[in-house]
Amino acid sequence: MTNIYDYSLEELKAWLVSRGESAFRAKQVYDYLYKGITDPDLMKTLNRSTIDKLKEHFHMALPQVLEKRVSKDGTIKMLMVLEDKNIIETVIMKYHYGYSVCVSSQIGCKMGCTFCASTKDGMVRNLTPGEILSQIIAASLVVGERISHVVLMGSGEPLDNFDAVLKFLSLVNAKEGLHLSHRNITVSTCGLVNRIIELADQKLQITLAISLHETTDEARKKIMPIANKYSIQEILNSVEYYMSKTGRRVSFEYALVRGSNDTRENAYALAKLLEGMKVHVNLIPVNAIKEMLYLPSTNESIQGFKDVLLQSGIEATIRREMGGDIDAACGQLRRSYLENRADL
Ligand code: SF4
Repeated sequence: MTNIYDYSLEELKAWLVSRGESAFRAKQVYDYLYKGITDPDLMKTLNRSTIDKLKEHFHMALPQVLEKRVSKDGTIKMLMVLEDKNIIETVIMKYHYGYSVCVSSQIGCKMGCTFCASTKDGMVRNLTPGEILSQIIAASLVVGERISHVVLMGSGEPLDNFDAVLKFLSLVNAKEGLHLSHRNITVSTCGLVNRIIELADQKLQITLAISLHETTDEARKKIMPIANKYSIQEILNSVEYYMSKTGRRVSFEYALVRGSNDTRENAYALAKLLEGMKVHVNLIPVNAIKEMLYLPSTNESIQGFKDVLLQSGIEATIRREMGGDIDAACGQLRRSYLENRADL
């Protein structure tokens, strides 16, 4: 069945009209859906004929919260079940400016980054635009507040699900829906250069975040198979193109692993790569991931790394580690769940 959250208001209007219903019903349905009211029988302003047609054609439900873990720092990690019983994870983080939600764009991931639990069992399927969007609505119902920021950094490589992510970006921004500014949305990629260029041509005002994590192609190939396809130089060229088309500054994500990529030499190498670019570096102290042998960097080396970047004129911040006590890193909770509940 079609997920009704995949539809824009205009598409829903057209659909209703094609079934002999009035176009104005679409706005009524939309208002209910975005308030989290998904059962057509509870949509009191609708008539029976509209209700029956909706029920017949659409899957109308938000993902169902299966498990919710709340961290000491307020981070909420949710496992949610989709219509086809697949499980996704969504993380809600509280910042001084409001709530930010980290959504998944695929079930699993085929990119194979060695540090990531989401890819351990490969990719199951792409999420639809409505399945990406409805994670935000479900999250706002959990916290009882509007979500102000969204990051596509959960399970999946967003640019590998390009068309659905583009449609999601249009839906989430629509004024009849969540009306979330593109400036409050970050799309993260492991570096799909061809897609970065296509995204640049859309000239959207979203923030693009590149997961870099290493400073040489050789080192990157060891942890991110995508590096066999695209070199760091090709990524940097596509980032320049992205910035020239959109006027937006790009972020680089760099997860610090003790004794591996967190030395001062690594910091100088990163500074050299990004020299002269108006970019931002997010330094991420890695969570210890159960399946991995990675150790988090010491506070001293994290700070030292950041200082080198700042002294080289590159903006850098250290990302606050959130939800470390609840398996909050990408794909961890879903994976632990699937391991323990093989019956689902
Ligand atoms: S880090 Fe992102 S791109 Fe890499 S395997 Fe995990 S979900 Fe996929």
